[in-house]
Amino acid sequence: MSGVANLLKTVFFSEIARGLVLTFRHIFVKPVTAQYPHQKRDLPDGYRGVIVHLRYDDGSEKCVGCALCEAACPSHCITVVSGEDPALPQRRIAKEYILDVTKCVFCGFCVQACPVDALAASKEYEMATDNKRNLIMNKEFMLALGDRYFPDRPKRPKPYLEARLAFFKEMKEAAFPTAKPGPVL
Ligand code: SF4
Ligand code: SF4
Repeated sequence: MSGVANLLKTVFFSEIARGLVLTFRHIFVKPVTAQYPHQKRDLPDGYRGVIVHLRYDDGSEKCVGCALCEAACPSHCITVVSGEDPALPQRRIAKEYILDVTKCVFCGFCVQACPVDALAASKEYEMATDNKRNLIMNKEFMLALGDRYFPDRPKRPKPYLEARLAFFKEMKEAAFPTAKPGPVL
């Protein structure tokens, strides 16, 4: 740039004028700051908030206490105590399920590891508290959060034995279509 142009810029404060124009132009732009907590932003579907437990349509919990989520968790913040369902012998459940949110990094590995889709990442992020013990969640708390964020529950699948018997009956009929119906399996 020539010396004359530089001199003119200095004399007429043209750079300051350009800056002021830019500033005044932004006075009329709609603000993008969300006025939290009065105004909450819409979170994307893939948002990973607090991990919750889910239920089937009959209200029974999906978790079978296998502890795969505990094994998959890189932060070691899940503790599962497995046991037999007193109402349904031979069915396993998590008698105790503890998740320490203070250690959770919201990676979602536990959700992916669960073989029965019993866990999900909710959009809950308002967990501020003055007592960190409040952030140690038990199964009942996680189920209540799951009810709030995932009210649509899937149908409970048929019991394992019933489904297996139906499968073998179907296979038998396919292999011997002309055979008389045998004894019920
Ligand atoms: S989201 Fe990640 S860190 Fe949190 S409980 Fe699940 S596996 Fe552990
Ligand atoms: S939440 Fe899923 S992975 Fe974890 S113990 Fe229950 S069934 Fe197993």
